[in-house]
Amino acid sequence: MGTDVLVIGGGNAALCAALMAAEAGASVLLLEAAPRELRGGNSAHTRNLRCMHDAPQDVLVDAYPEEEYWQDLLKVTGGRTSEPLARLVIRASSTCRGWMQRHGVRFQPPLSGALHVARTNAFFMGGGKALVNAYFRSAERLGVRIRYQAPVQRIELQDGRFVAAWVGDERITAKACVLAAGGFESNREWLREAWGRNERGEWPADNFLIRGTRFNQGTLLRHLIEEHRADAIGDPTQAHMVAIDARAPLYDGGICTRIDCVSLSVVVNREARRFYDEGEDFWPKRYAIWGRLVAQQPGQTAWSVIDAKAVGRFMPPVFPGVVAHSLPELARRLGLDETAFMQTLNDYNRACRRDHAGHFDHTVLDDCRTEGLAPVKSHWARPIDTAPFYGYALRPGVTFTYLGLRTDETAAVRFGGQPSANLFVAGEMMAGNVLGQGYTAGVGMSIGTAFGRIAGTRAAAAAAAARGREVQHALA
Ligand SMILES: Cc1cc2nc3c(=O)[nH]c(=O)nc-3n(C[C@H](O)[C@H](O)[C@H](O)COP(=O)(O)OP(=O)(O)OC[C@H]3O[C@@H](n4cnc5c(N)ncnc54)[C@H](O)[C@@H]3O)c2cc1C
Repeated sequence: MGTDVLVIGGGNAALCAALMAAEAGASVLLLEAAPRELRGGNSAHTRNLRCMHDAPQDVLVDAYPEEEYWQDLLKVTGGRTSEPLARLVIRASSTCRGWMQRHGVRFQPPLSGALHVARTNAFFMGGGKALVNAYFRSAERLGVRIRYQAPVQRIELQDGRFVAAWVGDERITAKACVLAAGGFESNREWLREAWGRNERGEWPADNFLIRGTRFNQGTLLRHLIEEHRADAIGDPTQAHMVAIDARAPLYDGGICTRIDCVSLSVVVNREARRFYDEGEDFWPKRYAIWGRLVAQQPGQTAWSVIDAKAVGRFMPPVFPGVVAHSLPELARRLGLDETAFMQTLNDYNRACRRDHAGHFDHTVLDDCRTEGLAPVKSHWARPIDTAPFYGYALRPGVTFTYLGLRTDETAAVRFGGQPSANLFVAGEMMAGNVLGQGYTAGVGMSIGTAFGRIAGTRAAAAAAAARGREVQHALA
């Protein structure tokens, strides 16, 4: 007898699906493109899960009710979200931790200090790597067969039903299938094509760095949309994009390459001009817009500049900043035009309301704002005047793309509006249903966990129904 459920992918969404299908009694085969040592996709880079809760719970303080979570999502997506699917994710985030713990995931209190997420996000002990390792161990215990270095290039469908997947020349059949193979963020040609050429004649995507795995090439996403005409959702240029250290590696730089001092800094472009309100909101609510902002600047580079007063108030980056003992020296060391840089910094320093400087508090939306400056700096605006000064070069770091397969509360892939009976999708491959734009920390794992679990359960049920049909056929 062949496999009941085939799961394609090896990250959080795939593993949640595989575990749920196995728990429902299905035989499961999981195909992961990466070798064993690089397994786990972008999920291996994660740290936390955004969780709704109405009262303090284990590692979560206070309360984070459904409505507040929904409003946060609505705000960052600017309404480009499906409310029913978003609410499904939000509600699921309140009940999944017990199940996760039964599969070996451990949570820890959030790190103290720079992040404002003790209320909203549950942190994985050992990070995403420990989470995926725990899930792989649990999956093996439940009899899930796992094959590494098994990239699926295409699938075979019949009237919208999954029939088989192809890994090279090998044809693998199953009664149902879950697609959880991530976005297309590591496919540089596709990013280039999506972003095109700008008015300066640049190809912006050539300067993007990929924060996560190199294996999310979007092969199946493209195959499903272009060859099987699956219903798609989202814009290929929308993605979770963070401003990261320009010295980060092309792939797998992970969390530590993020530059977290932006909200305490002044950010200038290659012309040494400011271009956005650095203090618009707390960093966890804003970090994912900065990659895109930098992508729109000449050369897709910007520089975040702080002084000694900011040190110790943000998560220190992995690479040391460029240090100088005066602002003109910093401009020279960063390769920026000194006159333009000093004009920007002097204008900014003059615009900081000195009478409010005593009210500076980076843990609240304080009243330190600039006056008469465009763009404004809304909070945490203090003059940059205390040596030593530090500068960090920034580049857009793509976390994951939002173009995906359209789905519904059953996680079914849809063709011409019709849900497939045995093909399901989860994680980044469908995140665009909830995230049309923007991001708020921890939602990626909420989406993958909610939809991975639904997809696995539905796939097991579809396989059981197919088994039932086989038995009836044999008896007839
Ligand atoms: C640095 C970083 C930090 C992050 N931090 C957080 C966080 O703290 N909280 C949060 O919620 N989100 C975070 N995210 C986003 C989060 O990683 C994703 O939203 C989530 O992990 C997506 O899970 P997934 O299973 O859909 O994809 P992935 O985890 O990327 O898994 C996709 C899998 O598919 C495999 N694959 C790809 N193509 C094929 C193919 N053709 N055949 C077979 N296998 C294939 C890949 O090898 C990979 O194993 C972070 C991302 C990065 C890069």
